Amino acid sequence: MSITDNINSVKRELDTVSVTLVAVSKTKPVSDLQEAYDAGQRIFGENQVQELVEKYEALPKDIEWHLVGHLQTNKVKYIAPFISLIQSVDSLKLLQEINKQAEKNKRVIDCLLQVYIADEETKYGLGFDEVIELLRSEEFAQLKNIRIRGLMGIATNTDSEKQIKEEFYELDTFFDGITQSFFRHEDSFDTLSMGMSGDYKIAIEQGSTMVRLGSTIFGDRVIKHYKNN
Ligand SMILES: *Cc1c(COP(=O)(O)O)cnc(C)c1O
Repeated sequence: MSITDNINSVKRELDTVSVTLVAVSKTKPVSDLQEAYDAGQRIFGENQVQELVEKYEALPKDIEWHLVGHLQTNKVKYIAPFISLIQSVDSLKLLQEINKQAEKNKRVIDCLLQVYIADEETKYGLGFDEVIELLRSEEFAQLKNIRIRGLMGIATNTDSEKQIKEEFYELDTFFDGITQSFFRHEDSFDTLSMGMSGDYKIAIEQGSTMVRLGSTIFGDRVIKHYKNN
């Protein structure tokens, strides 16, 4: 199946349930993204700042770029002028820096808080209690150039459908609670980003509004081997 075929069949599937597709194009060449663009895809996700900036510069300007990977505070300035959604906010400090850079660029930057739901040491994110603490803080109340659109979560990489389902269920329940407690009067708190190629069907059953698909659209990524140096 070509990228075009993949986009078309995934789109058909997602349109019936009104779920937004983010095409996660990390490690893929610009020509692959262009093919997805030509098939109608306008939202792309990357997990590294430098790669995202390079692709932004090379591709049409009506693309919405999402950052889905861990963001260091010193790199926010490179994406602040154009980023559509930062899905991976995992600290107040990072949010403050995003606010500062957004102000410099005279804009408001949309963000998701990344919530830790997986049973793994390696995943970034805030705990449920940390999300509440952040949203209650005076420091957060002062940030006028960011807008929290919702939450993002990554489930455990496991074959256990039951476990993945439980993790997504918990995040969806938490999302509803946060909506009621903090965003009742804000229609823009509307995004629950959960689901990747291996688990997006389960995520949609559990209430996802946005899925992040890489290999389903672009095929397998070449695995990078890192050396200890
Ligand atoms: C790479 C990545 C994806 C896409 O992964 P696939 O399994 O290829 O769909 C989604 N979300 C995040 C945060 C990623 O880093």
